[in-house]
Amino acid sequence: MAETGPTGAPGVPGRAPSITGSTRLAAVIGSPVRHSRSPSLANAAFGAAGLDWAMVAFEVAEGRAGEALLAVRALDLGGLMVTMPHKAAVIPHLDEVTPTAAALGAVNSISWVEGALVGHNTDGHGLVRSLRIDDGIEVSGFRCVVLGAGGAARAVVHALAEAGASDVAVVNRTASAAEVAAGLAGAVGRVGEAADVAPADLVVNATSVGMGAEAGSTSPLPVDPGRLGPGQVVVDLVYQPLRTPLLTVAAERGARCVDGLGMLVHQAALTIERWTGTDPDVSVMARAARS
Ligand code: NAP
Repeated sequence: MAETGPTGAPGVPGRAPSITGSTRLAAVIGSPVRHSRSPSLANAAFGAAGLDWAMVAFEVAEGRAGEALLAVRALDLGGLMVTMPHKAAVIPHLDEVTPTAAALGAVNSISWVEGALVGHNTDGHGLVRSLRIDDGIEVSGFRCVVLGAGGAARAVVHALAEAGASDVAVVNRTASAAEVAAGLAGAVGRVGEAADVAPADLVVNATSVGMGAEAGSTSPLPVDPGRLGPGQVVVDLVYQPLRTPLLTVAAERGARCVDGLGMLVHQAALTIERWTGTDPDVSVMARAARS
């Protein structure tokens, strides 16, 4: 049971976490960070696996990423997740970054590798892995449209190309950003247009359109719903609400719908696996994220 691991699953009402002198501490840094689901996800995974680890959130003001990294070294934290506004700012303070994080210019997780602090970006790989493991969908050979060209879109574009997509079209309000994002998919990347949506096998909303919408509503939408239909997979990275306007209309039009929780869970699972050497239970993590 998640609640009875050595960490005592911090946050379980009425139960004190059994943190001891040997507990390994990890953290997420960001600003704002109090809304972050990462500690709940990670602590659920630690508890379920019986790992003597715990995770907390640290509010770190913009411009102070370097000090936070010095603290990681001084306190010998087990690892760090990184959210806005520090994803690029941490890079100069690390010993190494992976090729993916370097290409994206953004780090969302940090781990120790043989005494060195290494920055990773697990966002895009998290989506590809969630589609594969949770939904049985392999994107290899898929014609993909990514709506948006911000941080999440760039990670997804890069990961889809790496996973063997045959075409990755980036459709974005600002053309210059679309060009940069499309460049991350190499030979299969291009700037797309709305008409690319209809023939696509996979459509990913990586814009923030739909964020905060009333659950079950049918607006606002990042794409003309008339372009969606059966035979397509439609993913919305927005996870507040989980049932976004896009997913509501896409389901009505017969498309297969995937919400943003899978990416959230799997990008964290990849990080926890790297920190602890243990494959975390993603179903426990998903339950924690939902609650
Ligand atoms: P970001 O860097 O700020 O990028 C936002 C993108 O949305 C840009 O491409 C922007 O277009 C576009 N956009 C914003 N308002 C728009 C509008 N009214 N019409 C059309 N396009 C609009 O944000 P991000 O970090 O990439 O995050 C994007 C979304 O993904 C957020 O909802 C976030 O919560 C979600 N997300 C989910 C996960 C997950 O694990 N599920 C992970 C990361 C992010 P311009 O370039 O024209 O400004």
